[in-house]
Amino acid sequence: MTQKTRKGNEGSCSFCGAGADEVALMFNSGNGANICSTCIEHGYKLLVDHDIIAGKSNKKGGGAKFKPLKKEDLMRPDRIKSFLDEYVIGQDTAKRYMSVAVYNHYKRLLAKGKTQDVELDKSNIVLVGPTGTGKTLMARTIARLLHVPFSIVDATALTQAGYVGEDVESILSRLLQAADYDVAAAERGIIFIDEIDKIARKGDNPSITRDVSGEGVQQALLKILEGTVVNVPPQGGRKHPDQQYIQVNTSNILFICGGAFDGIEKKIASRMNTSSLGYGATTKQRINEQNIMQYIQPQDLRSFGLIPELIGRLPVLTYMEPLERTALRSILTEPKNSIIRQYECLMALDDIKLTFDDEVLDYIVDKAIEFKLGARGLRTICEAIMMDVMFDMSAENNEIHITLDYAKSKIDKAA
Ligand code: ADP
Repeated sequence: MTQKTRKGNEGSCSFCGAGADEVALMFNSGNGANICSTCIEHGYKLLVDHDIIAGKSNKKGGGAKFKPLKKEDLMRPDRIKSFLDEYVIGQDTAKRYMSVAVYNHYKRLLAKGKTQDVELDKSNIVLVGPTGTGKTLMARTIARLLHVPFSIVDATALTQAGYVGEDVESILSRLLQAADYDVAAAERGIIFIDEIDKIARKGDNPSITRDVSGEGVQQALLKILEGTVVNVPPQGGRKHPDQQYIQVNTSNILFICGGAFDGIEKKIASRMNTSSLGYGATTKQRINEQNIMQYIQPQDLRSFGLIPELIGRLPVLTYMEPLERTALRSILTEPKNSIIRQYECLMALDDIKLTFDDEVLDYIVDKAIEFKLGARGLRTICEAIMMDVMFDMSAENNEIHITLDYAKSKIDKAA
């Protein structure tokens, strides 16, 4: 294509026949063929809609990157769980809860308008458990499975409107960005709110003075979690009067909240001890002291400082187990994108075959436990071992084997 002629010039579109004066632009190939701007626009939209190029689609209900959810895409809970099993080690209870909640959420979405008398409520989720046990990973994996936009926000960064910090609406800006500003896709996305426990109000009683950091933010979250139309500043940050907003309806956005809730075990134990004094006194003997978290109930979140209205909007409550040695060992090698597989892949890109002695993997786990770093620590320890290898590797070497002595020398050096 060599030339373009402006409106009013000679020539007609070789595709649709429109005259040059009927369209905005007419492109001339130089050998007699022309194409008008309208046909180019149609062609562009077709390419986007058929996922051939990325761009803004005009397809109803979704962009090229995130297609609208169809009934046949909806997986049953057992299949959702199997998918989670490929990426997340252990955490069986949480996976079962998540699978059912996500299944119901998207079933509700697909059934919109089809259930006449029954209004199906949202199944927002709270995951309670120590840091580094896979809460974010679980939420991210679900989003990957469903091909929906996903964003992570940190509850500690949020403040009540009018105070220094990010407005609660900004959590939707992130989702919009993740959805490439495809509003319809964002409206069925997943938002993971991390560190929800950090906005607990201090003390069990409602404060007399306003609690800026905690309760105000919880209040501000209520409407968004439940479902409302929010004016979202596209770039995030604070709202200001001259800004353009994008309206986002949150009623089909799934919220997954995660938090460590440090010390909640004491609240659970004290509730259970108290209740075991009354009727059902046998509960006391049956309590598994090792993992008290499995008994968590909504009222424990309340004792921790979440307001009842917020708890009510997070109906699915489940817990993550602390990761034991065997789980940590599996995390190293088993998930589809396990840490070791990632290193092998990085090396393979340089045509190098990377292998580890089995004892090295056990040693990495031992160190992660010793440093009390949980699954997060596995990566840090691997980095310390692999750093020099990755720096020194050369094209002549097409195999690298990591021995226990080598691994120990790197960790001892760092310690
Ligand atoms: P959390 O959100 O609970 O603090 P993350 O999901 O961010 O923890 O986990 C941190 C990292 O640890 C993840 O990127 C993942 O590699 C690893 N990890 C944690 N828990 C698991 C698990 N159960 N299965 C597989 N990997 C895990």
